[in-house]
Amino acid sequence: MTKKITIAIDGFSSTGKSTIAKQLAKELGYIYVDTGAMYRAVTLYAMQHNYISENHFDASKLIHDLEAISLSFSFNETLGFAEMYLNGVNVEKEIRSIEVSKLVSKVSTVSGVRKKLVKEQQEMGINKGIVMDGRDIGTVVFPDAELKLFMTASADKRAKRRYKELLDRGDNVKYEDILQNVQERDHIDSTREDSPLVKAKDAIEFDNSDMGLKEQFERIMRMVHDKI
Ligand code: C5P
Repeated sequence: MTKKITIAIDGFSSTGKSTIAKQLAKELGYIYVDTGAMYRAVTLYAMQHNYISENHFDASKLIHDLEAISLSFSFNETLGFAEMYLNGVNVEKEIRSIEVSKLVSKVSTVSGVRKKLVKEQQEMGINKGIVMDGRDIGTVVFPDAELKLFMTASADKRAKRRYKELLDRGDNVKYEDILQNVQERDHIDSTREDSPLVKAKDAIEFDNSDMGLKEQFERIMRMVHDKI
């Protein structure tokens, strides 16, 4: 019998982490957890309660409410992936909007928020057999993960991918806004004090600017097989 491992995938925004993570999980029969969705759902909660907007953020009110924020994933058979629920409501579409993308990195700097989400993420991975993607998975959530990947790609390539995704789902967005958002999030995520986005010492860096999905998947599957 092959042993179950933990696969941590970190990297900048829109590097295609979740696409590859979903594929790996499906192939291996592992659980897939998109931790960005959890930070996005907490951000949506803060927006719904007027704790945050473009020019104001009352982090103390959000911290006060943390216990009342329940996050869960539910697998959608038709779509083939788990959707995010915030206090029992499916928020999968709202959390991907540009409005949430603009504010999520601010919310993610709050240590109280990180503490809650990291604890929940560690519980989900207690039995291994998990692929988790985010910014601090290989450094903070699962520092002992057997396989750690750090995905990078040029900001322009990433913004183009994101732009296409948003257009495909019918959002009215401008490319310049997406590029600016990707760059702003990179900056906030890599310079924040608590759990900044950095490559773990033992992570394998993976630049997929010019690599197709098939090639990425095959290369990573070879790394997985070396571990199991
Ligand atoms: O992965 P995604 O782009 O959806 O993540 C949205 C944001 O959530 C990131 O830009 C980052 O600010 C935050 N995040 C984080 N730690 C994680 C996952 C996401 O701070 N593990």
